[in-house]
Amino acid sequence: MSEKFDVIVIGGGPGGYVAAIRAAQLGLKTACIDNFIGKDGKAAPGGTCLNVGCIPSKALLDSSKHYYHLQHDYGNHGISISAVAIDVPKMIARKDGVVKKLTGGVSQLLKGNKVTFYHGNGRLGANRSVKVTPQDGGDVIALQAENVILASGSVPIEIPGIPFDGEYIVDNTGALDFDQVPATLGVIGAGVIGLELGSVWNRLGASVVLLEALADFLPLADRDISKQAAREFKKQGLDVRLGTLVKSAQLEDGKVNVTVEDANGQSQHSFDRLLVSVGRKPYTEGLLSEDSGVSLTDRGQIDVDEQSRTSAPGVWAIGDCVRGPMLAHKASEEGVAVAELIAGKPAHIHFDTVPWVVYTDPEIAWVGKSEQELEAAGASYKTGSFPFAANGRALAGGQGAGMVKILADSETDEILGVHIFGANASELIAECVVAMEFQGSSEDLARIIHAHPTLSEAIHEAALHLDGRAIHRGN
Ligand code: FAD
Ligand code: AMP
Repeated sequence: MSEKFDVIVIGGGPGGYVAAIRAAQLGLKTACIDNFIGKDGKAAPGGTCLNVGCIPSKALLDSSKHYYHLQHDYGNHGISISAVAIDVPKMIARKDGVVKKLTGGVSQLLKGNKVTFYHGNGRLGANRSVKVTPQDGGDVIALQAENVILASGSVPIEIPGIPFDGEYIVDNTGALDFDQVPATLGVIGAGVIGLELGSVWNRLGASVVLLEALADFLPLADRDISKQAAREFKKQGLDVRLGTLVKSAQLEDGKVNVTVEDANGQSQHSFDRLLVSVGRKPYTEGLLSEDSGVSLTDRGQIDVDEQSRTSAPGVWAIGDCVRGPMLAHKASEEGVAVAELIAGKPAHIHFDTVPWVVYTDPEIAWVGKSEQELEAAGASYKTGSFPFAANGRALAGGQGAGMVKILADSETDEILGVHIFGANASELIAECVVAMEFQGSSEDLARIIHAHPTLSEAIHEAALHLDGRAIHRGN
């Protein structure tokens, strides 16, 4: 006999565990199946994000930022120190502690909400039957549900001929666990993950070279922002080589020799470690039996409609394994929406207002359209901007790099996009997401009182600038 549930969620990342908790809150009998094994060999719900993604990368970004500032910026404040030392294993252990605390917290939340948790591999069969193969080697468990939510996430893309070996040629998991600072680190792909993890090891003293096939730096960001960011990162010592396609890599005598092709032809580069961060692909291995009725797209994503319904009745899919940006908060919001739809409530996701953040220093954050997207669409828009160099709080904190840029419709003044490069951009963008969610205008931002002195005044001034009435810059 199969145990019966209203909802079974396969995958316990920010998509899956959030969907399971919301479903349980709505009174549905819910199970969540996750196969992740933590560093201690135990179940570690939280998926890529908590275990080897968002959280551990931010822990190391913060640790490395302290180390970097101590060496490069404290002198300006009149603070000097005779010697700075670094204990990489301790830094990694702190990161592991943060991860453990959070994955343990997810286990508690699932328990507290009476979600039945299975540590194992879930496989969807016909008519919403699910089999769980437990990670402890126990017998296969048969389950049955009214609704199944697939939230199996994504895995790093491997370049053909450049396999991960877990030590020299690594993915995000490996680059979050180096036991010492490599003297030289090659990074293939100058996307979000390459920039964040490249920044960590660069700040800790590695000589970091990012090899990026595309001619443009961060093409999804607004071009004014990506231009400024490229300049800042260069000053920090990040060597970003655009238009550089990696062709092959071989491990020889403890060095990774990489062959690249750029405008000058082919050349060789040698690194102590190589991080391959060329994107991620949906993870569906072993998830679907032949009679599950769930179709995949030609890109290997689970095919879903606007409301996350797959081709099989009562089967839904969310997060990195479906279309849309591979972001934790997008996965979670889809999880909440699907749980509410299953419970018979209305739910809708505004994909146009999903914020993006790159946790470099300074941070990059945006919501909505970039200027190049508006141009390509032939939209009629106006822009306003404000540099942090003219913001009192930024200068007081030694954080004068970067800017805020706002794009609004020329006729209606509705905000179409906001782009921030600067300290705390990840937090500052929230105000702009709220404004856009309420279909706000730049005039709304201009009339809202912003506390002084705060970094958020740069948003206020950029909105005023859009109408030619900024106070602390020329119009
Ligand atoms: P996942 O988090 O991948 O979770 C899926 C879970 O399901 C995993 O535990 C997987 O093992 C499990 N699973 C898969 N198949 C099965 C099965 N058949 N049975 C049982 N379990 C299964 N996003 C942000 O928004 N902000 C960030 O700062 C950020 N930083 C990142 C940094 C790095 C280094 C990386 C790699 C990613 C980062 N991301 C970030 C992206 C973010 O991690 C993902 O978008 C997010 O984790 C997607 O959530 P998910 O629930 O769809 O999938
Ligand atoms: P993201 O998807 O944001 O993680 O970015 C991955 C980046 O890797 C993209 O900008 C790709 O252009 C880049 N990329 C993919 N393959 C290669 C390659 N063989 N050599 C260099 N860069 C690559």
